[in-house]
Amino acid sequence: MKTMVQTKSGKIPPRELAFDIDGVIADTFRVFVEVAANQYGIPIEYEEITEYDYNKVVDIDEMTGREIIQRILDDPVGIGIQPVSGATEILNRLLRISPLLFVTARTEKNSIIDWMQQNIGFPDMNAVNLIATGSHEDKLPILMEYGIKYFVEDRLETCYLLDKASVTPIVFDQPWNRKPHPFIIAKTWDDIAEMIDWQPC
Ligand SMILES: [Mg+2]
Repeated sequence: MKTMVQTKSGKIPPRELAFDIDGVIADTFRVFVEVAANQYGIPIEYEEITEYDYNKVVDIDEMTGREIIQRILDDPVGIGIQPVSGATEILNRLLRISPLLFVTARTEKNSIIDWMQQNIGFPDMNAVNLIATGSHEDKLPILMEYGIKYFVEDRLETCYLLDKASVTPIVFDQPWNRKPHPFIIAKTWDDIAEMIDWQPC
């Protein structure tokens, strides 16, 4: 397991860092589990989701799973997704010294921008850029175009794609990415904060 960032200072310049949203900033699968239990009577443990493709490991019928995911995509505010612990504080701190870039595989960005404004509470969205690629594979070209060298991501398959090019993935720890891999791991947002060069650019 890598733990050190490969820059001169050992820290990441904020302008070289970007973030995935679901599973990194938004505690998306927590809501999946809660909605499945409370609204559909399907008990799932969060820790049971040991595959990104939850259908492989979680006992939920495909239609219901798809319905919950669609609600999560369409209405992240209404369904009650909460920020991952520490994300709000650290992202706001980062915004004071650098513009921020978020790259999501969601197909539609307005609903998640609304979620971000209401839950992360950026005082000013002018320096916040959010790109919805519509596919996991299209994240890499966007990151390269923006000169991003480090990307915080929870989906291992995407991490392998980025790593093959010149973007270093930082795996945000989740039950579905705890299999052996060669990448840097952030278990918490404090771990991410530790990797950042906080000197004003
Ligand atoms: Mg994600």
